[in-house]
Amino acid sequence: MRASSALSKSRHAAVALCTGLALTTGVLAAPAQAAQPAQPAAPATSPEAAQTPALPSGRTQYRTLADYQSDMAALAGRRPDLVKQVTLPHRTSEGRAVTGVEITDDVQQQDGKPVLLITGMHHGNEWASGEVTMEFGHDLVANHGRDKRITRLLDQVRVLLVPIVNVDGFVRNTRRTATNVDMNRNYGFGWSPNEPFPGSAPWSEPETRNVRDTISSRQVTTYLTMHTCLSNMLYPPLQLKAGLPQDIDAFRSFADAMGTQNGYYHTTSAEDYETAGEVIDWSYYATRGLGVTVEVCTTPMGLPRTFESLVPDQYWGVGPNAGKGNRGAFLVAMEQAADRAAHSTITGHAPKGAVLTISKDFDMWTNPVPQPDGTSRPVSFPNRLTSTMRADERGGHFVWDVNPSVRPIPPYQADGVHGNRTGFLQESWTLTCARPDGKVLQTLKLKVDRGKSVEANLHECRKLFHR
Ligand SMILES: [Zn+2]
Repeated sequence: MRASSALSKSRHAAVALCTGLALTTGVLAAPAQAAQPAQPAAPATSPEAAQTPALPSGRTQYRTLADYQSDMAALAGRRPDLVKQVTLPHRTSEGRAVTGVEITDDVQQQDGKPVLLITGMHHGNEWASGEVTMEFGHDLVANHGRDKRITRLLDQVRVLLVPIVNVDGFVRNTRRTATNVDMNRNYGFGWSPNEPFPGSAPWSEPETRNVRDTISSRQVTTYLTMHTCLSNMLYPPLQLKAGLPQDIDAFRSFADAMGTQNGYYHTTSAEDYETAGEVIDWSYYATRGLGVTVEVCTTPMGLPRTFESLVPDQYWGVGPNAGKGNRGAFLVAMEQAADRAAHSTITGHAPKGAVLTISKDFDMWTNPVPQPDGTSRPVSFPNRLTSTMRADERGGHFVWDVNPSVRPIPPYQADGVHGNRTGFLQESWTLTCARPDGKVLQTLKLKVDRGKSVEANLHECRKLFHR
């Protein structure tokens, strides 16, 4: 989309919009073709497009910010039992709210379900990434109680959709934020000042901290970050020297399963193009939840980029993927999020009404960063993961779907980059059992690996709770 001669070494050169490679040439982002001003849909440009069903919302053109906001409010208004509006903790640098919707059965409960997070528009000019995210919300609400698979999955999984994380960029139709930072180079883990537009420091942008805090305060067992326009899916590492992640087999099988639906190929992000400071790298090494970048684009990729070819065709699938598409990939991601063999569970018997919290604290590091004294060294930043559930249901017996406490040893360390790590940090969750007023009655450490379950013995909490 913004090809330059510098891109020719990449086999995806002509369309490497998302990698930001063209930005290294200093060329300002031209409005992406996908982000043309809202207008009635162009006539279908391919035989397949003519057969694609209408979108779940019935829309035929790109949304404005007001359209996204009214859609989310309407879904929550129609089904308050199923849809809850969420406002992320930080306003954008221009003061705009960043909002999303949570969708699950009994959505108001703090019920300990695993979370599938889908975000759109880290890059504000990649409009189709927000459209498919929002359409999935319409689809889930319309099919709850009608479609057996969707009804079952909404009983098991909490879906959090945030269609526009870079709201200022969307409003301006620019890749970067209003502060001219590429959000997807601003995440602290492995952050490098050598990347194009990485921000003044790791986590310098409120938009980036929003995504960090959203993931840190929930058990996001599966995460999709939507972009345009490459027709592929990417997972860690971001840099070849970091080596493959410990859970590479899990990443590959998950991406394979999604690929049978959307028809996209998958590879490591580093093999596509090397970067640093992207969300999928931080989220995996901090939480061990699987995060995948999905680059929505036409299939085949050379087609004209219209609303039809990028949104309805890619939502429902075309050609050999007709009836599957990214909708099918999202449903696979819900199944991945629900799969207890792919995360961990904490079980126990808690006093009815007790508030259970798990947390862990640890430091992570950037790539080496030049220092005032002329040396270069990694900079650390703290991470705090904490989430809460209430054992109100099922008579106090609970099963809490969580990410493993055992965490992959990260390639970015205090003394530099160490690639091809194979080990894990034998960390534990700290679990507290408290009264609703916050009085902690019991604290225990729980170590749990991927695919495993651990029993929390809350005898002490039960004994003290009603005194
Ligand atoms: Zn992008």
